[in-house]
Formats: sequence, C-alpha cells, structure tokens
Amino acid sequence: MRAAVMYGAGDLRVEDRPDPKIVDPADAVVRTVAACVCGSDLWPYRSMPATGTGRPMGHEFLGVVEETGAEVRGLKTGDLVIAPFTYSDNTCDYCAKGLQISCRNGGRYGLDGVDGGQGEAVRVPYADGTLVKVPVAADSALLPSLLALSDVMTTGHHGAVSAGVGRGDAVLVVGDGAVGLCAVIAAGRLGAERIVLAGRHEARTDLGRRFGATDVVAARGEEGVARIRELTGGVDKVIEAVGTRQALDTALGAVLDGGTISRLGVPQYEEVPIGPAAFMRNITLTGGAGPARAYIEQLLTDVLDGTITPGLVFDRTFTLDRTPDAYRAMADRQVLKALIRP
Ligand SMILES: [Zn+2]
Repeated sequence: MRAAVMYGAGDLRVEDRPDPKIVDPADAVVRTVAACVCGSDLWPYRSMPATGTGRPMGHEFLGVVEETGAEVRGLKTGDLVIAPFTYSDNTCDYCAKGLQISCRNGGRYGLDGVDGGQGEAVRVPYADGTLVKVPVAADSALLPSLLALSDVMTTGHHGAVSAGVGRGDAVLVVGDGAVGLCAVIAAGRLGAERIVLAGRHEARTDLGRRFGATDVVAARGEEGVARIRELTGGVDKVIEAVGTRQALDTALGAVLDGGTISRLGVPQYEEVPIGPAAFMRNITLTGGAGPARAYIEQLLTDVLDGTITPGLVFDRTFTLDRTPDAYRAMADRQVLKALIRP
C-alpha cells in the first residue's frame, strides 16, 4: 500500500509500505476513505530530527472495515467507521470514566508497529473499543464533517466541556485554526450566548462567524486583551486553542477572576505562568488532550442531521500522493486544514 512517512523536518515521503494484516484477534484492518493533516503533524514537519527509518504519519481518518480479527464482535467487513485519533480498549478504568486518551491499553497511530492514518489502509488495535460505525455510505456528502469527529471537532468540544461552557455564557476562543473554529461550534452548541473569537486571518474568522462567533478580535497582545475587555467586560470561560505563551497571556488577560481557561493547544512553553497574581485571582487552568472516543457518539447525531458542519474547516483536498504538498500548504498557512483522499 501507499502511505505517508516522515523522515525528518520537511522530508515527508509517500512510499510503498507492507499491507496491514491482522496481528491480534482484536484488530481490524480499515481501508482509508478520507484522512487529513492535523496542526500537530506540522511540529515534526518543522522540527523532527532526520531518521533513516521514518515514522508513518496521520491519526485522523475514516474508512471501510476490510477484515476483522477473531475477537471483533461489533464490526464487520464493509462497515464505514470513524477512527478517533488514538486507539483504546474502551473497557479499562480510564475508558470507563470517559478518558480514552489515557486508556491503559491504548496508543497512537504511526508508533509501535501501528500504521498511520495518511495511507491506504490501517491496522486498528482494539477495533471494537476504538472504531465508531456510522450509518452512511462511503460517498456521503457528510464525510468531511464525520472525519472532523476523529479529532478536530471532538477536541474543540473537549475545550468547551472542560471550560464548563453552558447556557448564556460569554466565551472567548483564542485561535482561528481548525480546532479554535470547532471550539466556536462546540461553545454555541452548549448554549454560549456570546462567543468572541480572537484571530487575525480573515477567511478563517469569517468561517468562525458562520460557526457562531458573535465578535472577532484581530488585535494581539495587550491591545487584544483591552479590546476583548471593552467588548465583554471580561469572560468567565476561555478556550485557548493555540498553545503559545502569547495565547495563554491573552486568555489570562481576558478571563475574569474565578474564571476557567481550557487549553487545547499543546503548550509550546515549559513553565505554567500561573504565578502569585493569577493565584490570587482564583483562575482555573484545565483542558488537555481530548478523549475523542468519548464524544464521537454524542456529536454524531448533530453531524448526521446537519446541525453542525465542522467539515467546512477542510478547504482543500489532496490525493494521497500529494500529501507532501498538503503539509507544505498548511505550514505556509495557505490551507486551513487539508483533506487527503487515498
Ligand atoms: Zn481503556
């Protein structure tokens, strides 16, 4: 099969790999129908040290079940399934409390002999616990929005849930990347009345308005904070979807005392800058990697009936062989989120 493999910064290759086979009786082999590039795929693309062996890439995909191991009960050949961005048994103590990201038997695609999602097929461990069957055909127009449940939309939802967003809230979303835009959808879906989106890329903030943002603040730093405070008087709930120190400083500047900041962007800073001043303000810092598997079913209904359309974050489609172009276009910010079709 063909699959995308990263050999070092800027060195992504699409090459022939062994066809996946059932290794463990709980496995399924999924033939990929659609995959995509995550903002987090761009970190190794920018900084991974060169390696001779390479790492299969991609963790967001959906596809058709091709083969199942002897222990797989809930899936059969031909089922269309969404793969959450990590695999999990869905039975351990962490999974039972909806923290499948921490599954005791779980893991990540592209590591430990498991294929990446940016390829023609993937061996998925713990298929029954991991994969979510969807009741549409493989050529459905809903595919991009269903694919978004693999990571970007469920991650945005995690931000809104962990920030405690509820009816009537004023919410600030920092970041106009695909996760931030999905966090706007999620905040609106949970009843937020005012949603301020901090971002400066106009096409993206326009999509954010379409997703339910009531205000857009393009200014950054202290000027941005002043503008958010002027608009709202400060907010109780912030979803920080960038991961930089500047984005967190914006969140800290805009949040009211006693408020909550949920972080979705993987921190690119080492120390949490909650010193004595923020301590005195009783700011709660929460968030983290979203347990996609815990949220797919609850969001699926809204995708199927068209209430939410997170698939609009995909603004360009590439064939699998053009995956290196997809990375380049996203790294250059010419594309918001690239969809890959094997
Ligand atoms: Zn588990």
